[in-house]
Amino acid sequence: MIISIVGIVLIFGTIFISSQFRSNNTAPTGNDKVPKASLPATPITQPPPRFKLPPPPPKITKTIEARRGDTFVKLLLRAGVSRLDAHRATRALGKAYRPQALKEGQLIRVNFQTKSWGVKSGNFIGFEFTPNINKILKVRRTDTNLFTLQKIKVLLERVDNRISGSIDTSLYLAAVKSGMAPSSLVNLTRLFSWDVDFQRDIRKNDKFDILIERLHLENGQFKKWGQILYAELVLSGKPIRLYRMKTQRYGVEYFDERGRSAKKALMKTPIDGARLSSGYGRRRHPILGYTKVHRGVDFAAPRGTPIYAAGNGIIRYVGRKGAYGNYIKIRHNSTYSTAYAHLRNFSRNVRTGRRVTQGQIIGYVGSTGRSTGPHLHYEIIVNGRQINPLKLKLPSGRNLRGNALKSFLNIRDNLKERLSRFPK
Ligand SMILES: [Zn+2]
Repeated sequence: MIISIVGIVLIFGTIFISSQFRSNNTAPTGNDKVPKASLPATPITQPPPRFKLPPPPPKITKTIEARRGDTFVKLLLRAGVSRLDAHRATRALGKAYRPQALKEGQLIRVNFQTKSWGVKSGNFIGFEFTPNINKILKVRRTDTNLFTLQKIKVLLERVDNRISGSIDTSLYLAAVKSGMAPSSLVNLTRLFSWDVDFQRDIRKNDKFDILIERLHLENGQFKKWGQILYAELVLSGKPIRLYRMKTQRYGVEYFDERGRSAKKALMKTPIDGARLSSGYGRRRHPILGYTKVHRGVDFAAPRGTPIYAAGNGIIRYVGRKGAYGNYIKIRHNSTYSTAYAHLRNFSRNVRTGRRVTQGQIIGYVGSTGRSTGPHLHYEIIVNGRQINPLKLKLPSGRNLRGNALKSFLNIRDNLKERLSRFPK
């Protein structure tokens, strides 16, 4: 590489040398080290001046956000990486990250080494991203054609936190006032979605009280809110308490005081943040004009709001169905089915005959079929006949017995003890 001294400027007796590298046409070397400007062999002035070398040219990072249907190769191409390098770098991820796991909104930092100051581009030297809160995956160019993966573990500390409040006008406002993060409130309402209809059952002076983990870095920097360990809702003076238990076999579950599952067979409201816009029963049809029995409930929600499978089950129908528009029917067991109508579109892996789990996103709110605006028409079908979902007494899920119950009671008592360390 040929180095030329471009200019020597004398300022207050100190000489700064700015150097410029002539661009070479060889393939990127991948070497992070960039040659420093060498000093001329013969002194320029007498006595020899003190030279101050310019700092090495900087690395630049472009942050790219994953779009729907993106792959790492597409992302890297968008950042200006060559196709060959994009493929090589992506391959370095190997089994550490399933390409299908790349989600819309994931941020990828793409790194380049510039050759001199003031230049806006450089050689691609790798990329990095944080697939989850306690891991960083970093792909670095270690040779001309070689990229290697580095997995960096981020240690997080979990600290108990108690948040409680009383509802004045809305649960949302009370939660925000108490310092609860909106994401934790969503988790809280989801926990109780088998017991509580949050549109109808919440009254002034109802209370909530939760024990939740806060995740910190080792230096104390807050990272995010963790899992809800314990939650209590007091509705019209009646408390409902749920305790978290994690097992190898069943994952995270919540149980009441006596080890009965928080999960009921079906969700009353298979959608978040929706407003009940039309109940079950006789009504004047908004389009047809005459009185007709409305065999479901309508939840008004913005177009695109996710719709959840109300319970574990098997998809029996997915597609257009007359006035229902885009329609899904799930059979949960020999007695219960649920149906969802007017959807904008379906989730990718929802097909007839596929099994879905409770809370899984099956589609998105729309206004297809005979509909006046975006809403979910939701039906619960018992032995082939629609019933009023809001009147249904829901049967309970897994109830603990024997050793499972014993372990749960230990966990419950431990959580109670941890809760009691905080004054209410
Ligand atoms: Zn309807």
